[in-house]
Amino acid sequence: MHLSSAKIKSFIKIFFFYFFFNNLYSLELKGEFYQGNLIVGKTESGSQIFIDKIKIKVSKEGYFVFGISKNRKNDVIIKVVNQNETEEIIRKVYKKKYQIQKIDGIPQKQVTPPKDVYERIKNDNKLIAEARTIDSDYIYFTNKFILPIENAIVTGVYGSQRILNGIPKSPHYGLDFAAKEGTPIKAMLDGEVTLSEKDLYYTGGTIIFDHGHGVSTLYMHLKDVNVAKGQKVEKGQIIGTVGKTGRSTGAHLDIRLNWYDIKLDPASVLDLN
Ligand SMILES: [Zn+2]
Repeated sequence: MHLSSAKIKSFIKIFFFYFFFNNLYSLELKGEFYQGNLIVGKTESGSQIFIDKIKIKVSKEGYFVFGISKNRKNDVIIKVVNQNETEEIIRKVYKKKYQIQKIDGIPQKQVTPPKDVYERIKNDNKLIAEARTIDSDYIYFTNKFILPIENAIVTGVYGSQRILNGIPKSPHYGLDFAAKEGTPIKAMLDGEVTLSEKDLYYTGGTIIFDHGHGVSTLYMHLKDVNVAKGQKVEKGQIIGTVGKTGRSTGAHLDIRLNWYDIKLDPASVLDLN
């Protein structure tokens, strides 16, 4: 059989149309499959979604979200189940290159905290962990994030391995912005305040927002904290100011992004260029 090039082209077109149509019909995914990234999906209302065989929350509109952990190497297996069919999609996870950051000359008590603050640190960590387990029905995570400060200059990135005074520490999971003390900070997304603390040991003035389905953001080292726990905040609203509270080498803003307890790269949801 002879196929003209026009026929082949139209066949390819039909094939792609069919392929995309099917894909869009049952599953849409937003976000790149890099380590540390947040992926937002949409499926038909009423479908169930399993990520690596674990059922995750799907909103009544069909929205869902999940995060890819910092060192994940395995493919992500997404299973969509609805009344008539089960579909399985396998996505490869791309590696991110992480920096090594050596900082010397830090007072030793900041590298290893003194014993008398262990209880306090334990309590702080518990508060933060509890805020991050909140599993609300909000779907704010489907909206676009904005930068928390104007003219932001990034001075620290997600995943950097820190070596403080020669001692390897846990990686830095935040995104740091250089800013003067007192610079107003905007909420990056609509959300509900689930933690508002003025003086945590490491993170100082700290705010955590719930954006729904386990997605949370955290802002740390704040000088002023202008929002209270339980408050609903709109994207762009001033929530506090930049400071150097907690264990901070100087005034800057450090933000975090989580999907439940999985620490993600805030840069994956921001337009940094
Ligand atoms: Zn930082």
